[in-house]
Amino acid sequence: MTSGADRVANCQQPSEAPGDELDGPCPAGPYRRRGWAPLVRVRQAAWRLRTPPLWAYGPRSTLEAPATGPARAAVPAVDFHTHLGRWTSASGRWQVQDVGELVASLDAMNIERLVNLDGRWGRELEENLDRYDRAHPGRFATFCHLDWRLLELRDCEARLVRSLQRSVDAGARGLKVWKDLGLWVRAQGRRVRLDDPRLGPVWAAAGDAGIPVLAHVADPVAFFHPADRHNERLEEMLRYPRLSRHSGGIDEFRRLLDILERVVSSNPGTSFVAAHACYAENLAYLSSMLRRHPNLSIDISAAANSIGRQPRAARDLALRHPDRVLFGTDTLGFNPDSLRTYFRLLETADEAFPYADERRPWSGRWPIYGLDLPAPVLRQVYRDNARRLLGLRAAAHAATHAGGPSDPTASAGSGAVGSSARDVFGGTRAAP
Ligand SMILES: [Zn+2]
Repeated sequence: MTSGADRVANCQQPSEAPGDELDGPCPAGPYRRRGWAPLVRVRQAAWRLRTPPLWAYGPRSTLEAPATGPARAAVPAVDFHTHLGRWTSASGRWQVQDVGELVASLDAMNIERLVNLDGRWGRELEENLDRYDRAHPGRFATFCHLDWRLLELRDCEARLVRSLQRSVDAGARGLKVWKDLGLWVRAQGRRVRLDDPRLGPVWAAAGDAGIPVLAHVADPVAFFHPADRHNERLEEMLRYPRLSRHSGGIDEFRRLLDILERVVSSNPGTSFVAAHACYAENLAYLSSMLRRHPNLSIDISAAANSIGRQPRAARDLALRHPDRVLFGTDTLGFNPDSLRTYFRLLETADEAFPYADERRPWSGRWPIYGLDLPAPVLRQVYRDNARRLLGLRAAAHAATHAGGPSDPTASAGSGAVGSSARDVFGGTRAAP
């Protein structure tokens, strides 16, 4: 055993005797280069000149990891968040030109149905329904919107509810609320938020009609931070400066989430779906929000980049709330690459793969990891939760589309069957 005095002596090696240190400063270490400071400065300047600009930097991963990305969904899937209409296209053209070809591609990838969030209202809704839902029964579910300009008119609550009623009667399967409500929609000169009292009857009417409200609230939290060198989505914000919400700051982000939570909480009879995983950067918060509100679900569209960089927490969330997570992509038209990325994210245990074009990961420079969800959870996330919210019978598609999407894991009684949407408005609903 060594005594305390011995340990001190050992620490002072090499040692002769206490008090034997030589006079003068310690000799320079191997990293000190006296008189080289100007050379170091030149070298640093050269390094800066050689460093490519951020926009030109596109590293390629040297990781050699197995890739098992499936080409088809493991079970017939419902993509709960797509854009097929004209509203989201800059040219005003339909997002999909050949719908028959789209359906064949969906069959090839085992996609049972797309939720088209571009229905709008009135004639535009009718044209969406004609083109998709009515022309290809069982393959599409078009959601309507509300015209917020009605808020400027007297009796706006009744007008909004009547508009929703007409849309549901026509065949709309849900109500889409975009982020403009809360960020820039104004009426009588004031910003309108989700918890505006004039909108209360709308949320209640959606619940009475048995249709879900899919709400895109706020934006990725990075957009509420300054677009500076510390921002993890800087490249995206530089490319699209209008994405910045920095003027409202992080307080604005929190306020928008609080408002969503208030509305969900005060309308327990209405099913809400928070788009883009709501707050994908904070899965603990999201999980507690789902726990508090049984009428809230999330779609994971456009959130593969955030969910996939925290695979253990994301898997845990899906396992804790398997009935509340919905598969979705947020594609404009049809994008098989995006679908395959989501299949890989949900079904595999692949590591460090790109969520987008490897050379240009605009939404953050990091890879993602597969969640490796168990088969029963996959069935819920891919299909059953969507069917329940849309009020569809589990076997509706299989019965009418032999040769289409297939479920090799299906067993008798599998697949949640939601209650059919209640037609409180007295109109007829499109057949599922
Ligand atoms: Zn979208």
